[in-house]
Amino acid sequence: MPRKLVIGNWKMNGTIASNARLLREIKDDSTITELKIGAAAVCVPFLHVPETQRILTGSALRWGVQDISAFREGAYTGEISADMAAEFGTTYAIVGHSERRLYHGEALTTVGVKALRAIQASITPVVCVGETLREREDGAARETVETQLLAVLDSLPADQMHSLVLAYEPVWAIGTGRSASPQQAQEMHEFIRRLLRTRSESLADTTILYGGSVKPAAAADLFAQNDIDGALVGGASLEAGQFLDIVRMAA
Ligand code: PGA
Repeated sequence: MPRKLVIGNWKMNGTIASNARLLREIKDDSTITELKIGAAAVCVPFLHVPETQRILTGSALRWGVQDISAFREGAYTGEISADMAAEFGTTYAIVGHSERRLYHGEALTTVGVKALRAIQASITPVVCVGETLREREDGAARETVETQLLAVLDSLPADQMHSLVLAYEPVWAIGTGRSASPQQAQEMHEFIRRLLRTRSESLADTTILYGGSVKPAAAADLFAQNDIDGALVGGASLEAGQFLDIVRMAA
């Protein structure tokens, strides 16, 4: 896996036509044609995955989904399994995004099982962890992140844990225009890396992305930090120019 990674999270935006235009604009840019394969990806709405696969096959840009079911298969109305996503060449599945934890009541263990399902389908889970503003103000940010992270590690067999990508996304920074400072982010990333190390030395190189209002103006400072390996980008990934700027800064 490339050391620096930038993943766009398109959330529930766009139409087939507008997203196809956005994909073409991104993939035809020299940033992507000269990119190390797999150093950037976009996570698109499920229904747009087939078209995304058609457009991006052969490009250095990978694609992913924004969630997957914790169940394998069967009578689970409305769910989409990791195996189904894998049939479309999906590289990544975001799991445990704070919007899923908040609006869909996803429990700590559910996120762990989703990560496991992704790995079983040869999809890399991008596991999101992060504290709310209240938790940060109460001095409980590390405790929250530790609880979320350990719930995932405890769900995975020891020989599978290295297949994770982590994303530290403080909830108060998501979609608010208020990014964590590079120092705040670095402190938490360093803490996360230490935690991973205590679990297994082989996890020391885990890719840890920062997410939360990442914009081109702030990206270089974030990427200069020792333990920040890239970004999970929401809003700015919907603008080809901004997304490409961020990818270039990570390359
Ligand atoms: P944002 O979203 O960049 O719009 O804050 C990030 C995310 O939710 O992954």
